[in-house]
Amino acid sequence: MKDRFSLPEGMIYLDGNSLGPLPVGVTERIGSMLQNEWGAHLIKGWNLDNWMGQPASVGNTIARLIGAGQGTVTMGDTLSVKVYQALSAALKMRPDRRVILSDSGNFPSDLYMAEGLIRQLDRDYELRLVAPEEVATSMADDVAVAMITQVDYRTGRLHDMAGVTKAAHDAGAVMLWDLAHTAGAVPMDLTGCGAEFAVGCTYKYL
Ligand SMILES: *Cc1c(COP(=O)(O)O)cnc(C)c1O
Repeated sequence: MKDRFSLPEGMIYLDGNSLGPLPVGVTERIGSMLQNEWGAHLIKGWNLDNWMGQPASVGNTIARLIGAGQGTVTMGDTLSVKVYQALSAALKMRPDRRVILSDSGNFPSDLYMAEGLIRQLDRDYELRLVAPEEVATSMADDVAVAMITQVDYRTGRLHDMAGVTKAAHDAGAVMLWDLAHTAGAVPMDLTGCGAEFAVGCTYKYL
């Protein structure tokens, strides 16, 4: 397995939960893309080299790893941007509710995204933080969306995805999962749990 990654001589790299090591072959693949696709085809690369279709085809490859259906996953920009977008779409689905529920162990930048969106909307939205063990029991009828990171990167604590999603739905809330530390590390059944939204990133365990 180690031979599949390009690591500096003598380095033991255990930081799989942030930027992962460079897989062998990526430098050549990106060099070839720049030269043979962008360089040779210019604007025609969108069709000739299928740049247009790649968010969907890469999404379908990832879908198999997270128990999601084909055609339901797409590649986009950074995870934080996707958190912001998914959260704003989720709020729109519950226009009469004003609470974003999350837990105090959530990744800091997810909470910053929620705070930034709340400031931007300027319509009395509230970010409500509860202890991780209290997420399922804190779903109330004013919660528009529950935004939860399944695996805590500091402790490995794992939320019960199906149970928390069901608690959210029973309270009439929309469920948004952050799978940054789940995708590629823990098996999951996203379709089975029925969550409306999930976000993640490619450069950690994937
Ligand atoms: C890494 C990570 C982020 C930040 O992702 P960016 O790609 O820097 O936007 C957000 N949430 C969680 C849970 C993460 O692990």
